[in-house]
Amino acid sequence: MTVYLVGAGPGDPGLLTARALELIAAADVILYDRLIPRSALEGARPDATLIYAGKEGGGPSMPQSEISRLLVSHGRSAETVVRLKGGDPFVFGRGGEEAEELRAAEIDFEVVPGVTAGVAGPAYAGIPVTHRDGASAVAFVTGHEDPGKSSSALDWRALAAFPGTLVFYMGVRQLPAIASELVGAGRDPNEPAAVVSRGTLPDQEVVSSTLRRIAEVASDAGIRAPAVVVVGRVAGMRDALKWFESRPLAGFSVAVTRARAQASGLATRLAGLGAAVVEAPAIQIVPLASRRMPDVRGYDLVCLTSPNGVRILFDRLAAAGLDARALAGARVAAIGPGTASALRSHGVIADVVPSERFVAEGLVDALADVPVERALVARAAEARDVLVDALRERGAEVDVVALYETVASALTADQLSAVGDADYITFTSSSTVRYLLASAGGADWRPTGRLVSIGPVTSATLREHGLEPDVEATRHDIDGLVEALVADAGARA
Ligand code: SAH
Repeated sequence: MTVYLVGAGPGDPGLLTARALELIAAADVILYDRLIPRSALEGARPDATLIYAGKEGGGPSMPQSEISRLLVSHGRSAETVVRLKGGDPFVFGRGGEEAEELRAAEIDFEVVPGVTAGVAGPAYAGIPVTHRDGASAVAFVTGHEDPGKSSSALDWRALAAFPGTLVFYMGVRQLPAIASELVGAGRDPNEPAAVVSRGTLPDQEVVSSTLRRIAEVASDAGIRAPAVVVVGRVAGMRDALKWFESRPLAGFSVAVTRARAQASGLATRLAGLGAAVVEAPAIQIVPLASRRMPDVRGYDLVCLTSPNGVRILFDRLAAAGLDARALAGARVAAIGPGTASALRSHGVIADVVPSERFVAEGLVDALADVPVERALVARAAEARDVLVDALRERGAEVDVVALYETVASALTADQLSAVGDADYITFTSSSTVRYLLASAGGADWRPTGRLVSIGPVTSATLREHGLEPDVEATRHDIDGLVEALVADAGARA
């Protein structure tokens, strides 16, 4: 029976703390705000109660009294309640008030600090909020107050005289008033100032100027909320220290169409390179548990053609009370490094992996000198027969087990329009092409972005659907696809 007041950081999911993720995963009830990372709730338990307690773009918000009432009532009845707030819960997040309410109701609480927007936004803009030369102090100020109103809690003279950096958490509309109050109270109008909008998010925007001109510059640039403004010498360091915009995929949106379970590795890689990732899982992997599983111990060669196949094969072995030793008598072949690495995670080092061309033809070549009498090919239901045919042609007896099938996963209208508008769409298999197009309503669908294909088979499927791939990976795996995409983006930037 504890309520955790948890900071979710400023927006980049990578800035959620380890403790925050742990508590989100454990929570019975999560009361969350609007400004939390979009993916923050993905780790919640499927049976957790999720309650939205924020406001939609200036619309009516849940009154603070109602939030406190919910916290207290859930705090009394549920084991673990997480109150998830943007940034840090005790920095302009009303976390202090909520803690007071909980204390008054004699409900235990703990506070999990978060990365606050006033430090992280500037950092992602290349602005250190303190610096040995000239910024020995930093003040965090709420700019949500209406500066004109006489009851304003802000002492503008004191702020103007403050010997260090000023960081305002503010509504964008307050910016002109903040700047003019500061100058009016004696702050140097030529001091550098910067506005960081949507800091740490892929569409972060930053403008910088002098305090005198910053409001105009921000308004000309159409700066949107949420935003912080930094006033001080450090704001001028951005030119030398900016890094966020320099990442190879910064400014590009990239759609990932593979199955959700497989997408996260690719999505994380792309996001790490600066891309705004559009998640659009057009396919879903469904294990075919009902198919009879041959005894893998009877073969001298076992071929695996995807990481999914490996995962499901080991699930099936485990269900039969077996483990990696069932493969001890066979040579194990993997179609590429991803599959080999999935095998490694199960304690099996593949004997045969193509050194290039991670497709069936590549595996056939890699197996050329390997003696085979009885082979098992464990793969997807709807795979090509290249490998099976080639092994049979060599006189081997070949059994095929279909471990899983790839089925369509319907996309929402929002997802489809985001894919249609993305700068790049990645296709990691023929099925991603087929099912994305099926979801998008067929052959007439024309996305605006560049189409990136993992290899010739996927490219052929694109062409069958009247789409010409703009980029084809030379190495037919995820690394190769990312490499080709980065090269293309570099050439276009
Ligand atoms: N507790 C939060 C602040 C809540 S007040 C924290 O510690 O960060 C909300 C204000 O925070 C917004 O109006 C805006 O000024 C600022 N803010 C929140 N997220 C932001 C972001 N990603 N980029 C810039 N400012 C942000």
